[in-house]
Amino acid sequence: MAGADRANGDALFRSWYLAQAKEKLRPRIAGFATEMGVSYSRIWIRDLKYRWGSCTPGGTLSFNWRIIQAPMIVVDYLIVHELAHILETNHSPEFWNIVAVHVPSWTKARSWLKQHGGRLEW
Ligand SMILES: [Zn+2]
Repeated sequence: MAGADRANGDALFRSWYLAQAKEKLRPRIAGFATEMGVSYSRIWIRDLKYRWGSCTPGGTLSFNWRIIQAPMIVVDYLIVHELAHILETNHSPEFWNIVAVHVPSWTKARSWLKQHGGRLEW
């Protein structure tokens, strides 16, 4: 495939995934926030470099649209991870307890990310 066509194809896939991510992630984030009893100020779904998600002290959540390509358990883990930071800033034992309550198989999700996370980048 010619370079220009390929770049164009990638851009199309990216915007499709971004739209999918917005549609699928927002209700899921809202659901977990209710379940966990946390509130956030806003959600950004965008192209984050070198990270899957982040949470500011003000409760603004950002997620990398690329996570939509991962299995749902991984998506849930990443959502709960960022929401848990609203309750616990650090990765303290208490933080991991909160994560474990809402995503009991979070360790599987984390090892999936370690093993395959690089493939989500393109
Ligand atoms: Zn964290």
